[in-house]
Amino acid sequence: MNALTQVDRFGPGFLGLLNMCGNLLLPRACAGCDRPDCVLCPSCAALFQQTESFPAPGYACGSGYACAVYAGPVRQAILGWKDHGDEEVGAQLARAIARLAVSLRPLYERVSLPDLVIVPAPSSAASMRRRGRAHLRPLAQAVAHQLTAVGLPAQAQLALTMSAVKGKAVELHSSSARARRVSGHIQVKAGSQIAGRSVIVVDDIVTTGSTLRQCGAALSGAGARPILSLALARAGRHQASTDLL
Ligand SMILES: [Zn+2]
Repeated sequence: MNALTQVDRFGPGFLGLLNMCGNLLLPRACAGCDRPDCVLCPSCAALFQQTESFPAPGYACGSGYACAVYAGPVRQAILGWKDHGDEEVGAQLARAIARLAVSLRPLYERVSLPDLVIVPAPSSAASMRRRGRAHLRPLAQAVAHQLTAVGLPAQAQLALTMSAVKGKAVELHSSSARARRVSGHIQVKAGSQIAGRSVIVVDDIVTTGSTLRQCGAALSGAGARPILSLALARAGRHQASTDLL
């Protein structure tokens, strides 16, 4: 008799008890401030509703928007999701950026062509290997899903890629070094269906905006119309580069 069959014998109540024991053994704490028994407490969740703007040349809206300032609990929550695979908080962050996309609708609705495409900023192959996933994909999917739900049909597409670059993350301490690292290394993937379509680019942390500018340029070069860039958080130029790669 296997373990599952044994659980069946005790009925669904026993499963609930097992779940409860699991929670007792591995209690969940707020990803931002470690407050017990929640994924993201109300105070930390509120930090992701600040709507910070930043310059976004090359995009029809001219400005990009972030949910939060990259500091304190916001930084802790984002790193927990990005580098330690905390998918529970990832779902909350996806909801936050989707909510931001919907709230900004009046800004881009008039400049947008039908059939929006939501494209995540690309990660380097090394970052993808380290994390084992395209971590921005669920964010782009959440934005597409939510915009479609409010009557703006949108589709998420992993249309951008970043080619191998020189310089390890730990060597790139200045924002200008990061900008040089990214410059010219972002391309549209072969077979992407973005030509003639409006695109919203989604990133996690924005500092100089260099990555998003490169994304916009690559998309324009492939015949798409970049209209808006969104990020989870906007960081100051002093932020350690190792967090941002
Ligand atoms: Zn908290």
